[in-house]
Amino acid sequence: MVEFGTEKDIVKEINETMKMIKLEKNNSTGIALYNYIGNLYSALSVIRGREVYPSKRKIFGSLNDYRRFVKITDFLMDRFNDNFIFYKDFHQEYLNDILVEIEDNFINTLDEEMATYSDESDYFGVNDFCLIFLDFCKSLGLEKFADEILKDGKIFCMTKGNGPDNYLGINLHNPLTGNSHILVHNFDYDLDSLFILVHETGHYYDLSEFDSSFKGTEYINYMFKSVYPEVMSKLFERLLLNFLIKNNIVKEKAIDKKIDAEILNHENILGAYILSLLGDGYLVKNRYMNLSNDRLRELITSGFVNMENLDVEVEYLNLNDNVYYAYGSIISLFLEDEVLEDGFNSSLMRRFMDIRSQEFNEKFIEGEELLSGKFSKIYQKRLEIIK
Ligand SMILES: [Zn+2]
Repeated sequence: MVEFGTEKDIVKEINETMKMIKLEKNNSTGIALYNYIGNLYSALSVIRGREVYPSKRKIFGSLNDYRRFVKITDFLMDRFNDNFIFYKDFHQEYLNDILVEIEDNFINTLDEEMATYSDESDYFGVNDFCLIFLDFCKSLGLEKFADEILKDGKIFCMTKGNGPDNYLGINLHNPLTGNSHILVHNFDYDLDSLFILVHETGHYYDLSEFDSSFKGTEYINYMFKSVYPEVMSKLFERLLLNFLIKNNIVKEKAIDKKIDAEILNHENILGAYILSLLGDGYLVKNRYMNLSNDRLRELITSGFVNMENLDVEVEYLNLNDNVYYAYGSIISLFLEDEVLEDGFNSSLMRRFMDIRSQEFNEKFIEGEELLSGKFSKIYQKRLEIIK
């Protein structure tokens, strides 16, 4: 039986982090801590069921410190867009190639499977829920890790019906102490909750790897500039569904979930690709967000005749999210294949962990041959399990 964390624990963590910020001299670590406080407040909002905003005066102490924070964060956010613009031709071509391969496989496999939807119950109950989570982690050689997560107070859960709907899960990582907590919203000991818990466990695992040699700058680069922060979480999602289907655990529901997840992956890759078709000027500071739907569609379709009928909804496009989840979906597919063959310490996995916080360049993708032809083969192979 897991003892869930409470609102009091979050408030305590907020107060302790505030103290850490006051003592922190390093700029990057300071920014990482401010960012962490923001996440803690999101968690508090979920728990209280209404938005709770931190007092800027309490956190920053002086107006100057607050202004400095805003300036540095803006600067970091802009770097993400600048990097994307700089490599735009690469992203455009790569995402297009991957999309073409997905569409081909989609038509062959997913379309047939999508028609039926299972009515199998996916409610596990407390004991089975924890057991499945433990067994899954064990299958990856991560049992110590699972024990740690199931320890009292590590998981915060929200029962159905409480709080804002937009937070499905949050991984709360204190960059200075290396301590993490996981919040799962709409918790119900069912497959959806397990899926969210495992996604957040991916973040937990990913960020815990920064602990041993915490460098503020590296962490900040990863959180703000990299295209890879959702790779590990997506990998854990993929591995969970594979585990459930292979072991016949709520198999029919897991297959439905796999199809849903692949549809969402496709939407994110398409979103990132659509954004890569925009002119640089619109990508600077996300200026496309201020355009009307009609104008945006016009801009994207001009010069791309084959996309005339594209139904673009501007509110679903977000450069950061689309790019994070697009690369998360793509790179995790390659990693999943390797992990299933060679375990969690596979060489691609190790190389990915090394480069993930470095400045983006196409060399990792090209050098490791993470290209569309190979993607297609693995994608097809992985879709076999839903048949
Ligand atoms: Zn995530």
